[in-house]
Amino acid sequence: MAINVQIVAVEVNMHALDVHELYRFFHIGDDETAALRGVSLHVAPGEIVAVTGPSGSGKSTLLHCVTGLDEPDGGHVEVAGARLTRRPEAVRARLRAVNFGILLQSGNLFPHLTVSQNIRLQMLLAKVFDSKRMIILLDSVGLAHRAAAFPTELSGGEMARAGLAVALAADPPILVADEPTAEVDRETEMRLIEHFEARRRAGFAMLLATHSEALAARADRIVELKDGRVDSG
Ligand code: ADP
Ligand code: MG
Repeated sequence: MAINVQIVAVEVNMHALDVHELYRFFHIGDDETAALRGVSLHVAPGEIVAVTGPSGSGKSTLLHCVTGLDEPDGGHVEVAGARLTRRPEAVRARLRAVNFGILLQSGNLFPHLTVSQNIRLQMLLAKVFDSKRMIILLDSVGLAHRAAAFPTELSGGEMARAGLAVALAADPPILVADEPTAEVDRETEMRLIEHFEARRRAGFAMLLATHSEALAARADRIVELKDGRVDSG
């Protein structure tokens, strides 16, 4: 009996992220879109899990629900063993701040702050400001030369990488990123993949929605979505 209890405790700790049977429906007039239809997955510390699937298959909806930015209509999410779903916004916000770095498909940067100011703000909020680390971070996303640029002065790919630097600024245990290598050239993509692999070796977890075969190929697992379901075949 005592042994069973111990095994359960180890399993809970092994998962940075546990996603159970998520459902999410959207309604526009009488039209219903079932964006997620029973999606489950887990990510352990030191794992990269890729979420793939065609446009409209539910990837972004999944990432919003996983990080508590959106509430699923069914199912639940646990982060580091703590329930995130159907908790008050203040609780979700705290769990989010402690556990996640989040890159969404847009809206990751404050438009009136430069790239380095955006990163600095994120570091200050997390009380981990370190100018050396900021330089290393800018370099690892290939934006050292764009530190003083405002978001409107960036290309789509640069904007995504600046958002990624902001998401990584506080060194979060779990990175959740929507298309982190969208609109970047192959060389930059390889550099980002190397950065993700270094984080994996350091024991960090990553859940990455991606269209990139190169990135998916380096993942520990691929969750392929099709019409809101995990496509198992
Ligand atoms: P993906 O990221 O894989 O392209 P999304 O998660 O963005 O897919 O979308 C999944 C489905 O849900 C699509 O049919 C999309 O139109 C719909 N959808 C997503 N968000 C909303 C919303 N806020 N309101 C209505 N429909 C939405
Ligand atoms: Mg999307």
